[in-house]
Order: sequence, then C-alpha cells, then structure tokens
Amino acid sequence: MPRREGRVTPISAEPRTEEVPDLFESEKLALDRAREALADEQADSTATRQSLAELTQHFERLMRETRRLIGRSDRAEREMNALNLQLQTLAHELEHRATHDALTGVLNRGAVIDLAGRALRDGSAVMIVLDIDYFKRINDDFGHPAGDAVIQGIVTCLRSIVADAGIIGRVGGEEFTVLLPAHTLDEALSLAESMREAIANHVFAAPVDRGITASFGVSLSPGGTDFDTAYALADEALYCAKRAGRNRVEVAVQPSVATLRLA
Ligand code: GH3
Ligand code: MG
Ligand code: MG
Repeated sequence: MPRREGRVTPISAEPRTEEVPDLFESEKLALDRAREALADEQADSTATRQSLAELTQHFERLMRETRRLIGRSDRAEREMNALNLQLQTLAHELEHRATHDALTGVLNRGAVIDLAGRALRDGSAVMIVLDIDYFKRINDDFGHPAGDAVIQGIVTCLRSIVADAGIIGRVGGEEFTVLLPAHTLDEALSLAESMREAIANHVFAAPVDRGITASFGVSLSPGGTDFDTAYALADEALYCAKRAGRNRVEVAVQPSVATLRLA
C-alpha cells in the first residue's frame, strides 16, 4: 500500500513513548462521525448526509487501493511462480549436466560409478564394458569430428538394444559400460550380442566409409559387489575379446576369471 500522507505526530514536552501511527486515522474519524450520526436520533439530515458522504469517499478510496494492492500481489505471485519454474528448470539442467556426457547424452563416468555401484550393492547384476575397435584410425583417417559422430552412432546402437533394461554410461573416450540389474547371464549375453551386431551392421554417416565394430567384456557379480571389482572383471573379459581378434563378446564370472568366447 502506498505511504499514506498527512499524519504528523505532534511534538510534545512529555517524554516520548514510541507511538505507532494509525494508518487509518482519517477513516477512523469518518467512521466515528458516522457512528455518532447513527446514534443521534435527533441528528438533522444535513449532518447525517455529510458524514455519510465522508464515509462513502473513504470507502471508495479504500476499495480502489485494495484493488490496486490485489492486482500488485497477483502480479508478484505470477512473477514468483515464473521465477520458481525457471529455477527448477535450471536445477534440472545443472543436475543433468553434472551427471551426463555432453557428446552422447548417456551417463558420465561419475554418474555410472555412482548408479551402477548402488545397483550392484542392492543385488546381482551384469556389467558390460565395450570399447570401439581401432577407433584411433577413424580419427586419423577422417578427423576428430567424424570420430565424435561415430561415438554418437555407437550410443544410438546401444540405446536401441538396451532401452529401459539397464544403465548406459560413457566411462572413457571410446569406452562404455552397460549395467543390467537383475539379469541372468544368458539374458545379458544375448543383449551384448545384439549390441555387437547392431554396431557391426550400423552404417555410419560420411565421411566414414567403413564398418565399425566394438569388443565386449561381460561380468556377472552377486549383490554386494563393489563397482571396481565388477568393472575389473568385465575389463579383463574385454581384454580377452581384444586379444582374441575384436568384434566379439567375452565373459568372466566371479570368482573364476575363466572367459568364454561367444562370438
Ligand atoms: P583398440 O581396438 O585396441 O581399442 O584400438 P583403439 O584405436 O580403439 O584404441 P586407442 O586407445 O589406441 O585409441 C583410442 C582413441 O580414441 C584415442 C583418442 O584420441 C580417441 N578418443 C578418445 N576420446 C575421444 C572423443 O571424445 N572423440 C574422438 N573423436 N576421439 C576420442
Ligand atoms: Mg578402442
Ligand atoms: Mg579404449
């Protein structure tokens, strides 16, 4: 409400006690006069009409001010809601940036370690680690941007197979993990095989003029396993896949690290 004018506290010789000015002093006076006129059965109609006119004037002004105040408060509420929404969107965006890889949109290394670690603590899970074969040559032959596009193409292939079954993350430059909670080894191996095929059959955009493959290492871990253990096991299987000629899926099962060639 705008500051109301004309209320000056008179200077007095008395020691000052802090008086709170009455914001509605003139309205109160008008109301008192109207009450007196109402109580006075002898009051003449001119006096009654005058106090009524005064009251009406104050009442109308109060209504105008109240309307303006309500309008202002509605506007402030709308602005606050819009700002709140903006803040929420920004918070989501920040959270997304902090946990996702900017190039591919899958989880970044930190988020994978966190989420996969939790899933592994809660129950048995299959960890798949895959690495693009001879990727350095793609960069060397077609340039870094083409290499980036290949990495994006690989993620498209992974997403098409994994869908909602697991968590995809980019743990390194051209290396990804897929965590499949509550999957049997057979189910996971079949998915890994489908991912391998999807990548091998994918036609990458120009200038890349060749087929690209990836090698896969798979590990099955019981609940309570930590991320590093499950990852090291899958990585060992991946190493076997690379050594055995690439474009294949190998598996390692705890506690033995015996690997099994599948493709
Ligand atoms: P291997 O079959 O043994 O995995 O061979 P490789 O060539 O794929 O592996 P190597 O480790 O020799 O090379 C990986 C290359 O990936 C080297 C690095 O420059 C490239 N790289 C890593 N991150 C990115 C990226 O974000 N974009 C692009 N374009 N290249 C990347
Ligand atoms: Mg590689
Ligand atoms: Mg690598």
